[in-house]
Amino acid sequence: MIYRTNPKNGDRISQLAFGCMRLPKKDVEKCRRLIDTAIENGVNYFDTAWFYPGNEVLLSDILVGPYRDRINLTSKLPMLMVKRAEDFDKYFNSTLQRLGTDRIDYYLLHMLTSFDYFERFRQMGVLEWAEKQKAVGRIRNFGFSFHGNTGSFQKIIDAYDWDFCMIQYNYLDTDRQAGTAGLKHAAAKGMPVMIMEPLRGGKLAVVPKEAQDVFEAAVPLRTPAEWGIRWVMNHPEVLTVLSGMNEPDQLTGNLKTASEMEAGAMTEAELAAIAQAKEIILSKTKVPCTGCEYCLPCPKNVAIPTVFRFWNGTGLADTSRHYNDFQYTLDLGILSPTKGYASQCVSCGACKTKCPQQIDIPAEIKKASKDLDHAWMKAAAKIARPFMQGKRR
Ligand code: SF4
Ligand code: SF4
Repeated sequence: MIYRTNPKNGDRISQLAFGCMRLPKKDVEKCRRLIDTAIENGVNYFDTAWFYPGNEVLLSDILVGPYRDRINLTSKLPMLMVKRAEDFDKYFNSTLQRLGTDRIDYYLLHMLTSFDYFERFRQMGVLEWAEKQKAVGRIRNFGFSFHGNTGSFQKIIDAYDWDFCMIQYNYLDTDRQAGTAGLKHAAAKGMPVMIMEPLRGGKLAVVPKEAQDVFEAAVPLRTPAEWGIRWVMNHPEVLTVLSGMNEPDQLTGNLKTASEMEAGAMTEAELAAIAQAKEIILSKTKVPCTGCEYCLPCPKNVAIPTVFRFWNGTGLADTSRHYNDFQYTLDLGILSPTKGYASQCVSCGACKTKCPQQIDIPAEIKKASKDLDHAWMKAAAKIARPFMQGKRR
């Protein structure tokens, strides 16, 4: 494992961090093995949040209990839930209790989306509250995670002497979100930058065939995920790269990358291959959904991330269009306990402000519906549904 030094406090942080959000909590032993393997191989930064259902409690057992003094433990204040100043204590104390610890090493305001949004919490006194927690040792470093535009990011960075920040960054998002300009702005101020979504929610681990061909022509042979993680680690401004690793092979692959990839080591030819793959992927992506599910539940049960996954599937040359649309109807109309078609959307707007990717969900769902909701497939699904769900024998 290669470690990078936090420029603000000298902490040695593994350049691969474990994003725990998507751990398969129903299989506790599998989660335990993944965490044990990560620790044995030098990972020392673990990310969770109050907002991730069941995640903090799971980590209390498999991470905090056995390894508390060997790791940097993070969690986040759920800003979507904060309505008044008393909520800072309420959610922070809940996090400590769930995790079974008395301190958080890196604590973040979760998902700031604009300067005005941050300003609302600053007026409530969140910065003074955090300073008090730091003074008594309950928070060691205080920062924020960000999903908004570059301008807002830079204003938030300039508004306070943060200990660190976390941004979405990958080779598709150089000009979106905080972007390369935001990364460099934060680093120029000596701020440690943690990276989330280095593979855009897994989208860069499985790429369209033409992009895969580009990677396969490059030497040495690497998986698309490896290319994506290496690209982020190539930036010296990055302190650590969070990756959600739910399968042993994902973890093994990332550990290998993190044990050999030095900042600035990518060659011109490698960077050119990534640029070529990026162009191909962007030309085929209809909507930049990462599948985070922050927009759920929908009052009309639209399975928003699944709809977007299939909609993006319509642009992939390696997926038969009919097969893609049939799978959409099968998954959301026949096999799921509740139907989740895009056409169920009534444009209520409940999801509109919840998306970290700033997707105008109601508008995009309407477009997706035009492409995916075929009357004849839905008619066939209506007949098949009771049989497939075992309600008629
Ligand atoms: S706008 Fe549509 S997709 Fe969004 S919550 Fe309302 S019904 Fe669901
Ligand atoms: S639409 Fe936005 S909030 Fe919903 S899953 Fe996709 S990225 Fe997440």
